[in-house]
Amino acid sequence: MVECAIALGSNQGDSFDILSKSLTALNKIPGIVLKATSSWYITKPVGTLEPQADYINGCALLSADQTPEELLNILQTTEIQFGRANKGTLQPRTLDLDLLLYGNLVLNTPSLTIPHPRMTERAFVLVPLAEIASDWIEPTSNAKIAKLLHNVDTSGVKLYTA
Ligand code: AMP
Repeated sequence: MVECAIALGSNQGDSFDILSKSLTALNKIPGIVLKATSSWYITKPVGTLEPQADYINGCALLSADQTPEELLNILQTTEIQFGRANKGTLQPRTLDLDLLLYGNLVLNTPSLTIPHPRMTERAFVLVPLAEIASDWIEPTSNAKIAKLLHNVDTSGVKLYTA
């Protein structure tokens, strides 16, 4: 089994319910064990062209016996299961699941980049990730998640209380 970190986000539909149920669904998949979940955060959309609703974001740690490609496939199937129709980047979405870290693997293929290429600049990823994986070393920067968090502006990331 390999320790993995994923990021979850939603800004359409009943986001809190969708995010919670998606974690339950992932934990039921053979070969995947949910190890930790962060708090949820309300965050301002980043880099969108049109005004959009705020997101709820969080992170989770999984142990998985799948390959990175198999895991990405499972994440994409889960997005669709929870109603994601819009595949455009920077568009509103019912569920967005990103594979952030897969052990200390560094991978670059046309369909998959690990670590997730934008995770080191995204406060909405680093704030929840630091809650559950502060000492994990991001293998392209060789820096701990806690250290990367110090480099980003976290003002748009607020704790969500259901
Ligand atoms: P998005 O619209 O943000 O969900 O982006 C999905 C696209 O990013 C898919 O075509 C994936 O193949 C690609 N992708 C590349 N690396 C990753 C990753 N680490 N996690 C999730 N999607 C990835």
